[in-house]
Amino acid sequence: MARAYNFSAGPAVLPLEVLQDAQKDLVDYKGCGMSVMEMSHRGKDYDVIHQEAIATYKELCGLNDDWSVCFIQGGASMQFAMIAMNFLTKGAVADYGKQGTWSAKALKEAQLVAKLRGATVNVAADCQKDIPTRMPKADEWKWTPGAAYSHICSNETIAGAELKELPQTGSPLIVDMSSDILSCPRDYSKLDMFYAGAQKNLGPSGMAVVAIKKEFAAKGAAEIPTMLKYTTYTEENSLYNTPPTWGIYIFGETMKWVKKMGKENLFKLNAEKAQKIYDVIDSSDFWTGTALKEFRSNMNVTWRIQGNNEELEKKFIDEAKKLGMSSLKGHRSVGGLRASIYNAFPMEGVDALVSFMKDFEKKNG
Ligand SMILES: *Cc1c(COP(=O)(O)O)cnc(C)c1O
Repeated sequence: MARAYNFSAGPAVLPLEVLQDAQKDLVDYKGCGMSVMEMSHRGKDYDVIHQEAIATYKELCGLNDDWSVCFIQGGASMQFAMIAMNFLTKGAVADYGKQGTWSAKALKEAQLVAKLRGATVNVAADCQKDIPTRMPKADEWKWTPGAAYSHICSNETIAGAELKELPQTGSPLIVDMSSDILSCPRDYSKLDMFYAGAQKNLGPSGMAVVAIKKEFAAKGAAEIPTMLKYTTYTEENSLYNTPPTWGIYIFGETMKWVKKMGKENLFKLNAEKAQKIYDVIDSSDFWTGTALKEFRSNMNVTWRIQGNNEELEKKFIDEAKKLGMSSLKGHRSVGGLRASIYNAFPMEGVDALVSFMKDFEKKNG
């Protein structure tokens, strides 16, 4: 079996161990006589899987009983809408960072809801137009006193720009952490809500993992449909309807893997992996990093070949692919090159890329 070094931004690489264990248990989960996919979500075998997944995640994120962890379908993009539907009530103001593609999409959903409701959305900082890509600096944010909430993105996956420190906003802070959740030290307990589409650092696609303070969830609008209310998920433990049970199972196994690896150890490895690639980028004019240095992402490394040479970039992607390194193409909206190196991405894959980059530069530089 040949596993590719999968640099995809998402769905992304999962720990091999998790896949192999899932394969072993695929048709008969630990003697239950059926697959996790076939079990009742109300049965006691599934219940253990569900509770353990939540407990492990809470432990890894350092969350106490004030918090709920919810599994909500529709990915991170559904959260963009749900957040506004719940918390951007009539007359309210919400602050949004416009930091790149994803936070701009969240902002757009809030603007739609604001129009419907008669509420206001304030753009707290806008650096989307800047090239090279960056995040807002600490003194650029303009927060609204008394805002219902503020929304930011900690890592812009397409740009490859990451907020190393989260800002203090003075209102309940909601963070889209789809592409850097549990990848570096963060004080999650200071937030009111954070969420991630599962398919980057947490598990398979098909849901968002939403951590929300119960007290904050309770402030959500009452008049919206049941499936859009956070309280439906917090009060029913994400079992109001049939949750994506298979995805939750793999998520739980992936969280156990993180725990076994040791999160501090993983954080250190993540920084090392990224640094190895940035070191090559900085070693010559042949390569250009896309994001400003102080905002360089440790999860999504983005760069170009001298003069934004698309022909050479294509050659780079094609040759890498032949060597077993897949998905190094930048997002279709920005082009260039991108290596997504999430928690489960192995160091050997980074070493292979680094050595290929050096070789490629020698032959084409
Ligand atoms: C991938 C991504 C999303 C969108 O996730 P979906 O689950 O596909 O909706 C949102 N925000 C960020 C930061 C992402 O990286």
